[in-house]
Amino acid sequence: MARYTGASCRLCRREGEKLYLKGERCYTDKCSVAKRVYAPGQHGQQKKKLSEYGIQLREKQKARRFYGILESQFRKYFDMAAKKKGITGENLLKILESRLDNIVFRLGLATSRPEARQLVRHGHFTVNGNKVNIPSYLLKAGDVISVREKSRTSPKIKALADNAGTKKPAWLEYNADNMTGKLVSLPAREDIDVNIKEHLIVELYSK
Ligand code: SF4
Repeated sequence: MARYTGASCRLCRREGEKLYLKGERCYTDKCSVAKRVYAPGQHGQQKKKLSEYGIQLREKQKARRFYGILESQFRKYFDMAAKKKGITGENLLKILESRLDNIVFRLGLATSRPEARQLVRHGHFTVNGNKVNIPSYLLKAGDVISVREKSRTSPKIKALADNAGTKKPAWLEYNADNMTGKLVSLPAREDIDVNIKEHLIVELYSK
């Protein structure tokens, strides 16, 4: 499964804001966005005025990088969102939020989305009792995510699970006793705390 393997902090600097790709480091003064407030590369410090297209493109790239998704998959999500009833931009965010790696992160069972993706790939979770190791697996309301029985003794998983659930959003439940979470309902737009202007992405793909 393809994924971006370059330097994470470059992506944040490119977008000019924190995308929280490195876990705890992102909350310290080691964060590169805080230290170097300009884009990476030789021309990163040049001030450029973006066109309307450029603004839309940057917003789409930011969303893609925030959730750790490659272009082709992101486009598929947009097409899915456009076919659903309701507002396409909001549908898109709901789809992105319902990915298994995102839910693992939101539950606090990983310190970043890239880490959640890796833990899912390594088979540490079940969905409704079945092992699922596909980070892009889309959950539905009522689905139950658990740490696999075998993984519960892993020191790393135990350390993560000890802090899980404390910052979870209201649309998720977490039971620390059995390391289990539940997607109560798909979030409404106001419940998704991301700095993404989804209408710009819709405008870009609708050209
Ligand atoms: Fe982004 Fe985190 Fe790196 Fe800061 S430390 S630039 S938020 S990945």
